[in-house]
Amino acid sequence: MQNYIIPSPPVVCIPTIDDRHFPVRRVYCIGRNYPAHASEMGHDPNREEPFFFQKNPDNLSPDGLFPYPAHSKEVHHEVELLVALQKGGSNIAPEDAMDCVWGYAVCLDMTLRDLQSQLKHSSRPWEVSKAFEKSAPVGLLVNRREVGDCHEGDIKLEVNGTVRQSGNLSQMIWKIPEIISHLSRFYDIIGGDVILTGTPSGVDSVSVGDSIRGSITGLSDLKVKIV
Ligand code: MN
Repeated sequence: MQNYIIPSPPVVCIPTIDDRHFPVRRVYCIGRNYPAHASEMGHDPNREEPFFFQKNPDNLSPDGLFPYPAHSKEVHHEVELLVALQKGGSNIAPEDAMDCVWGYAVCLDMTLRDLQSQLKHSSRPWEVSKAFEKSAPVGLLVNRREVGDCHEGDIKLEVNGTVRQSGNLSQMIWKIPEIISHLSRFYDIIGGDVILTGTPSGVDSVSVGDSIRGSITGLSDLKVKIV
């Protein structure tokens, strides 16, 4: 027993489809990884160097509720494939990267778009618009052995039964092994790290009372209520 000054904070976990718990260390996110989404945000859809940001592990929220933040008037949904890593390393070659993958889940990268735009314009970090409380609703994790490699498959988001985002995982500009390889040049990746792999086009605002359903072929649907 360590002699902690205060009680140790709880380990953040993502529940799995077979009722186990995946402990999370870090949450990495890649930006603009689908050409149509890069275009809708006013950027070049061609392949340029990937860029990353992070959310906090305890921003992951498996309880199906998203409290609308009081300090934003434009909250956007971004449906994304979450990749959970069972091991890592540094300078991982793309051909070795898939060995690091434990499994996959549907996740939302909720974004305070009004704040993000202001912060971008003033050349300030946009962390508060991305890494806020409960900003990453997450579905149940499925092991790679069950679902395969998720290099392709439909990715979709509905709000109150209407399709808002619809794409295919094969449209990713940077593929899963390339993302892992790139990240491992900047960070020492370890098992417990998870990656949000970007969103297809169709990002838009949500309102209190909305019901969101995120789905990816082969994975458990993610249902979230905006409260
Ligand atoms: Mn995103």
